[in-house]
Amino acid sequence: MKAVILEEANVFRVDEKADPTPSENEALVRVRHTGICATDVAMIRGLSPLVIAPITPGHEWVGTIEEAPKDSEYAPGEWVTMYPTKGCEVCAACLDERPHHCNSFRVIGVHQDGGSFAEYLAVPLDQLIKLPETLHNIHGALAEPATVGVHANLQGGMAAGKRVAVIGAGTIGSMIGQVARGWGAADVVMVDRMPARQKLAADLGFERFVLVGDGDEQENLLAYDGEFDIIFDNVCVEQTLELAANSLKSGGTMVTLAFPHDGQKLVVPYMTAYRRELHIVFSRNYARGDWDHTFDLMSKGAIDTERMISGDYPLENFVSAMDDLRDKPDEHVKVVIST
Ligand SMILES: [Zn+2]
Ligand SMILES: [Zn+2]
Repeated sequence: MKAVILEEANVFRVDEKADPTPSENEALVRVRHTGICATDVAMIRGLSPLVIAPITPGHEWVGTIEEAPKDSEYAPGEWVTMYPTKGCEVCAACLDERPHHCNSFRVIGVHQDGGSFAEYLAVPLDQLIKLPETLHNIHGALAEPATVGVHANLQGGMAAGKRVAVIGAGTIGSMIGQVARGWGAADVVMVDRMPARQKLAADLGFERFVLVGDGDEQENLLAYDGEFDIIFDNVCVEQTLELAANSLKSGGTMVTLAFPHDGQKLVVPYMTAYRRELHIVFSRNYARGDWDHTFDLMSKGAIDTERMISGDYPLENFVSAMDDLRDKPDEHVKVVIST
């Protein structure tokens, strides 16, 4: 089959790779669509250390069953995706279906070979997830990043009537904002340092936007009807954490979810956080049960995947898709590879 092979940082190509041979507990899946995630970009461009190499990346996918064990609940042609997180399966977190808290946490296609920038995958049956009919197409590839948004909202205690701000208005921020709106947020303000993100936010129906970098962001954010109940920080640098802390109501919640740099410390203005008795919660990845919320929201049309998909490239053109993402950051939100 054809697959992307990442040999080392910045050394990658589409090449022939042996077809996967499923074991008796696995199904063979024909990959249909895979989103390129910031994690893939970081791996491929050497912005995060490669855990193993060579590796075929890709974890935001939908596909169809090619072959499944006869006694399984899957039939050829059926549309599926994968819960890509694996744990040790024996620790308390794993037994509680929270492998994202397991000490041996790993994601297929990130920390383990077998990613979906390939024509076929062998997928453990217990990692497969059936897709609702509305997602039997390219839009299904956005279910995984949408689930990151669902998890962040669950962590933040999102409920109807809350005033919300989202710092970092790219793919994940847009998902967080749309989930919050889908769950009845009274207000969602998007915050970013890239002017192009204002257009994206507006297209997604978020008219309220604050551009970071001119020094007026604090004032501009609070100008939208005052302090917030929940602020999601996808960036988590000192400046954004301070902006978040200073813009929350007393008793408000800051949800931090940027991927941490090695040795990074979370620096928040303690006096503000103390006086306001802020809640600071962290959000990593998602739990398996979070996907049900995603399917519900996506089936209702709460996530505008049409606007978020900025490119659809065949697998053979993976290298040019990556180059376009790098060279035209203003034009792209989610680029999908179709096989
Ligand atoms: Zn991802
Ligand atoms: Zn475990």
